[in-house]
Amino acid sequence: MNSVYASFGTTIFETMSRLAAERGAVNLGQGFPEDDGPRDILEAAARATLEGPNQYPPSRGLPELRQAVAAHYRAHQNEELDWQREVTITSGATEAIAAALLAFIEPGDEVVLFEPMYDAYLPMVRRAGGVARVVRLEAPHWRLERETVAAAFSAKTRVVVINTPHNPCAAVMSRAELEMLAELCRAHNAICVSDEVWEHVLFDGAEHVSMLEVMRERTLKIGSAGKMFSLTGWKVGFACSAPALMDAFAKAHQFLTFTTPPNLQRAVTYALSKPRSYFEEMSAAFQRSRDRLVGALEGEGFALLPARGAYFVSIDLVASGIAMSDEAFAKHAIEHGVATIPVSAFYANPNPPALVRLCSAKRDETLDRGAEALVRAKRAL
Ligand code: GLN
Repeated sequence: MNSVYASFGTTIFETMSRLAAERGAVNLGQGFPEDDGPRDILEAAARATLEGPNQYPPSRGLPELRQAVAAHYRAHQNEELDWQREVTITSGATEAIAAALLAFIEPGDEVVLFEPMYDAYLPMVRRAGGVARVVRLEAPHWRLERETVAAAFSAKTRVVVINTPHNPCAAVMSRAELEMLAELCRAHNAICVSDEVWEHVLFDGAEHVSMLEVMRERTLKIGSAGKMFSLTGWKVGFACSAPALMDAFAKAHQFLTFTTPPNLQRAVTYALSKPRSYFEEMSAAFQRSRDRLVGALEGEGFALLPARGAYFVSIDLVASGIAMSDEAFAKHAIEHGVATIPVSAFYANPNPPALVRLCSAKRDETLDRGAEALVRAKRAL
């Protein structure tokens, strides 16, 4: 086996979902909404499947979907994208990140990453031959500090991978943070791969700023229909960048998955026509779920970190009076009927803080049962 993959186990998401299923535990681990997205989008997919064609779409994606992606970002983020030259449809955001890294780096090039980070970044960087330069962000605000970020850049830096809103921290990067990063990217001739899959899941009036708006010429921005429409299993992603980056990206993508199922592409084209109110209501519903879970846990002495975007909240174990590692607590919690994600899975370096991530995108009754199980787990310590 390739040594990079040999050094990693099965993902924490797969592991925790399997344990939850085996034990019949409430699954607040892997991040997916309990309810599937809108019925009309599912019907659009069913119709598109039956009516066909179901043969290979163009490698960069169906023109109608690329036009819809460009129109969406024009309406929502005031971004002008040339759908023919600046948009490619991918089989999920993870594929887009892989294609970007494969396209942009040579073995030995340095890639700046921020930990905690989504678990796929590091193996993908290493498998592409990149050398990871990891900057640690600190709770509770997870801010990018210029000095530490600048120290991670060198003459070998080619790519910086960012994620806003952030999984698992639920932090949202400010325009000032993005501008600081942009300045460093320009000074070092680096490209920013900006994972913005949570761009529509924002709480308490938080505003999403796309890196594309801040640094148009050297950003590849990634979006996700799965996150926008609560259809995480569909794996339909969007990559957007200036033509030169997109040409390189499309070369990697054509040899990776080549294309993405046409029926899902047509259904997502339909979905992107949803009015602004759809996205506002979705965020509002996720915010209500977050508040319900946070309220239930805080009432029982758990300390939670602030969550401004993405449907995750983290328990701070130390502040909750739990003297255990996150992994040990996650194991203990599953015995008491609830699956969580130990946040150490998102760290490359030793001594991560003791946090466990909960997915709050669940029905009220599930959130209540999950919170009760966590309270039982805490009392049993
Ligand atoms: N994005 C999901 C999460 O953070 C996991 C996706 C996966 O399991 N690959 O939980």
